[in-house]
Amino acid sequence: MSDFDVAVIGLGAMGSAAVAHLAERGVRVIGFEAAFPAHALGSSHGDTRLIRLGYFEDPAYVPLLHRAYANWRALEAASGADILTVSGILQIGRPESGIVAGTIASCTLHGLSHEVLDAAASAVRFPAVRLEPDEVAVLEPQGGFLRPETAVMAHLRVATGAGAMLRLGEKVTAIEPDDAGVTLVSDHSRVRARKVIVATGPWIADLVPALAGIARPIRQVVAWYTPRDGVSATLGPMLPFLLDEAEGGSFFGVPALGPDGLKVGKHAHFMEPVDPDQSNPPVNEADLAMLDDFVARRIPVAVGQRRAAITCRYTMLPGEDFLLDHLPGEPRIVVASPCSGHGFKFASVVGEILADLAMNGGTSLPIDAFSFAALAGKKG
Ligand SMILES: Cc1cc2nc3c(=O)[nH]c(=O)nc-3n(C[C@H](O)[C@H](O)[C@H](O)COP(=O)(O)OP(=O)(O)OC[C@H]3O[C@@H](n4cnc5c(N)ncnc54)[C@H](O)[C@@H]3O)c2cc1C
Repeated sequence: MSDFDVAVIGLGAMGSAAVAHLAERGVRVIGFEAAFPAHALGSSHGDTRLIRLGYFEDPAYVPLLHRAYANWRALEAASGADILTVSGILQIGRPESGIVAGTIASCTLHGLSHEVLDAAASAVRFPAVRLEPDEVAVLEPQGGFLRPETAVMAHLRVATGAGAMLRLGEKVTAIEPDDAGVTLVSDHSRVRARKVIVATGPWIADLVPALAGIARPIRQVVAWYTPRDGVSATLGPMLPFLLDEAEGGSFFGVPALGPDGLKVGKHAHFMEPVDPDQSNPPVNEADLAMLDDFVARRIPVAVGQRRAAITCRYTMLPGEDFLLDHLPGEPRIVVASPCSGHGFKFASVVGEILADLAMNGGTSLPIDAFSFAALAGKKG
């Protein structure tokens, strides 16, 4: 007899969502977190995460995003927490750039409202972010941002409210499958469960050796700048944005939501591999020089106004895609690695998918592109 129906390992964005969905279904679920909820050592901290519907990466993500939006609102209703702000988002670049062309293609295919502003029109409506004369901004009104720490805590509150047991500060060191289920060995205990979901973010390869060298943790840096005037870089006059500088990479930003100021980062930063078991190398001169240079070129109101910078981690997969599947040949173990630097917005639907996979063996949500088999065919 198992102690639990499902054990979830890792209570970051994805694991916290999974325990909430499972507990709400009345499943006997236990969650393990090696550190503490909403900590700053993994991938789910830093105050904000962008969300958008017209997905430039691939229009195939859009049905999942519709579900994610609905689930974020359901989580707000269940928890009373303020998690999702729909403010509009700007996706900026040359018309042929991946972000601009991809967003327009995705919006067109799925009938999503959007508006294309040339550089002059963007300067009038959203003056804080400077466009080159040959760039455009796609305004997608459904876009906005999430509050990641609040979201993780809300999922965990919903989970415990529905009967989930959480073990915090307890690291799982081994998963031992047998005919009747699995034994989870931690640094404090041994627990029996029928199924296990591994959602350990940058540490995924520790418990899923098949992903060693495939799921690659990299270092990410974001910084905050206090704008010189108190208006142009606040939400409304400025919108969250993605900005494609072609060979220069793509940057993201969030307007000033409080005294910390506006936030900027570069997607994948320097693609610098990190060992998740070592603390991240601290923010250095090269990190700051790159972000300061971007601000100098693009957000003049914040030049010289840097206030803070932190490190974080992406877990990159080939194709910058996700993995949501059973471990091949092992129906008791579900593996979740939906990051590649853009996974947070999906966490609310990923929790539902993981609960489906653990309890039903499959899901009606479209995840074929995120299987181990699909991963094998991707380059990265
Ligand atoms: C700077 C930055 C900006 C980003 N911007 C966006 C954005 O704008 N929009 C977007 O959608 N996404 C964005 N992302 C990506 C998104 O944040 C990630 O996809 C998401 O947070 C990944 O969550 P996770 O649950 O997989 O990992 P994590 O949140 O890191 O959770 C993994 C958890 O597992 C725990 N753990 C590890 N090993 C064990 C073990 N053996 N036993 C128990 N517990 C264990 C860890 O302590 C950790 O809490 C961004 C990421 C970063 C870093």
